[in-house]
Amino acid sequence: MTARIIDGKKISAAERDAVAAETAEFSRKSGVMPHLAAVLVGDDPASQVYVRNKERACEKCGLKSTLHRLPQETTQKELMELVAKLNGDPTVHGILVQLPLPKQLDETAILDAILPSKDVDGFHPENVGRMFQGRPRFLPCTPHGVMKMLEHESVRTAGAHAVVIGRSEIVGKPMGSLLIQRGADATVTTCHSRTTDIAAITKQADILVAAVGIPEFVKGGMIKPGAVVIDVGINRVNDRLVGDVEFESAAAVASAITPVPGGVGPMTIAMLLRNTLVAAQQQTG
Ligand code: NAD
Repeated sequence: MTARIIDGKKISAAERDAVAAETAEFSRKSGVMPHLAAVLVGDDPASQVYVRNKERACEKCGLKSTLHRLPQETTQKELMELVAKLNGDPTVHGILVQLPLPKQLDETAILDAILPSKDVDGFHPENVGRMFQGRPRFLPCTPHGVMKMLEHESVRTAGAHAVVIGRSEIVGKPMGSLLIQRGADATVTTCHSRTTDIAAITKQADILVAAVGIPEFVKGGMIKPGAVVIDVGINRVNDRLVGDVEFESAAAVASAITPVPGGVGPMTIAMLLRNTLVAAQQQTG
């Protein structure tokens, strides 16, 4: 079998077009331009690229974005003050603090300080709780992007066995949660660093989502023939981006697979734009 490639660029372009059209309509009626404030601390090269991509995507869709750059040695107090200022600024609808933060900063405390109504990444405990209860305000962008891809590709999740590798707060855990919500109705198994015999579990997956952070961790031999494989991983190996799935061997077994780059990554940004528009709509009128 040679897998169909799930084109994240194409699907995200359709999503972004929809956001752009809805933003134009919203701005015309309300006179308000949805505004994302991004905070970048330090000079991590990957973070700089991510933030730049997010800014560009905002501009293309008619959303305003402002970047707040702080030096590597920023203190907790300084960053907390900036977050408080953005929380209190009525012209800012969404706040994004680019992760990872430098070691001296308490990431959890910073994310908890963002107003839930402006938490367009969906990381605040209130928004996480709402998502788990099936009454979301903002869904976390990467798992939401994966769900959109599955929907776009008409992948049947109801009754399917979905296996998620990874249990991070931003990908693995919310991914499993979205897949078991009513409407998605998958049966979910989550694997992690302490799971024994992962291959025995992944081979049972109708839908396999890899969010491990280890280059080419999933090999073709770990995949059930005909499975849909979603590779969330972004790993830089010798100046090349590779996923958490060994693409060639996996594509020979799966029925559909996302590439890296050009798979889940672009979806994450599209979902961020969607959340920023929703935040502006919720805060206006
Ligand atoms: P993380 O490091 O926070 O979590 C990795 C998870 O993998 C952990 O829960 C851990 O239990 C599990 N794990 C580690 N080693 C394992 C092993 N040997 N066997 C099984 N499980 C193991 O990473 P994350 O933030 O969830 O990101 C995962 C990957 O996704 C990374 O490559 C990251 O760059 C990428 N990512 C991509 C996007 C996107 O937009 N495409 C967004 C976020 C993260």
